[in-house]
Amino acid sequence: MKNILLKKVSELENEGIELMKNLIRINAVGPKNNGPGENEKAKFLKEYLQNLGIEEIKEYPAPDASVAGGARPNLVALIPGQNRDQKLWLISHMDIVPEGDRSKWATDPFEPVIRDGKIYGRGSEDNHQGLVSSLLTVKAFLASGIMPHYTIGLAFVSDEETGSTFGLEYLVNNHPDIFAKEDIVIIPDAGSKDGGMIEIAEKSIMWVKIKTIGKQVHASLPDLGINAFRAASHLVVELENLRHLYNTRDDVFDPPQSTFEPTKKEANVPNINTLPGEDVFYLDCRRSAGGDCWSLGGRRPDRRRDRGPIPGCPRWRPPPGRWDRGCPSPRAWPLRPSSTRRTPGSSAWWGTGSARRARSGRPP
Ligand SMILES: [Zn+2]
Repeated sequence: MKNILLKKVSELENEGIELMKNLIRINAVGPKNNGPGENEKAKFLKEYLQNLGIEEIKEYPAPDASVAGGARPNLVALIPGQNRDQKLWLISHMDIVPEGDRSKWATDPFEPVIRDGKIYGRGSEDNHQGLVSSLLTVKAFLASGIMPHYTIGLAFVSDEETGSTFGLEYLVNNHPDIFAKEDIVIIPDAGSKDGGMIEIAEKSIMWVKIKTIGKQVHASLPDLGINAFRAASHLVVELENLRHLYNTRDDVFDPPQSTFEPTKKEANVPNINTLPGEDVFYLDCRRSAGGDCWSLGGRRPDRRRDRGPIPGCPRWRPPPGRWDRGCPSPRAWPLRPSSTRRTPGSSAWWGTGSARRARSGRPP
């Protein structure tokens, strides 16, 4: 049976390539990443499933006002097996990572290019390979007339790249009858070239928005203001200390240590001759080891709640009577682990629950 199925899959090579190319052409970046969402891709996939002759296809739209149509799609299809009670799930996400700066691409990210035996295009690996391999698996069973041992469940979900709130998390919370405890789940996302790697855990993810507040003035008179962009730049460098503070290694992960990377930077002032009074950047953090919740919100370890010094800023002077111990070394105050659970009102926390653990530890 295995050989029959493998032969069938290899016969479907060209169909797989065409399917991959069609998926690449549909932009399914989620709305949190300023994309149109997954509705068009879901429509395409539903038609594909219908053309395979699959009768049991259900839609579970998750309400989301930020996309056209007001909902994020989730598709579930069942292919009957000999065992109707236990399902083998293949779960793939439909959304993709934003293409980033298009000028950095050698080709159009949404126009597939085949070169050296590879297909280039946004989402080809993450997660079209999962969608295509799931569909070809099902097609191989159907075309060869072999009834699988387990009932195969295909779940094509939204929103994996930004937290799964409108995807898998929505299905689990609002339609608990879909998945059963005894079901087997395979998530064909990531992996290795030879298919020999099975991922069993992912890092918890935390995204932190950091705003520095200074005082806006004309750039010709910097002494009258406080440059929020410069403060943010110093802070970005200081945040490198986080990897020393959180230095536990766990070889189950790749890389084994936690990572803390400044990524997105918002525009501050529109013109060159104004000193920015406000600056915003973001930190992408991924925790490798378990243990207590980490909190970056609420307080600095030295309990000084007032505006702190700008490390290395020659113009900073301690306010009289308050910073009378002088400017502490910047090394003295970077953020540290805290046993504090999420501080109300803070925008940053590590999740410890299994739902959060399921968030991607690989690049959204
Ligand atoms: Zn993925």
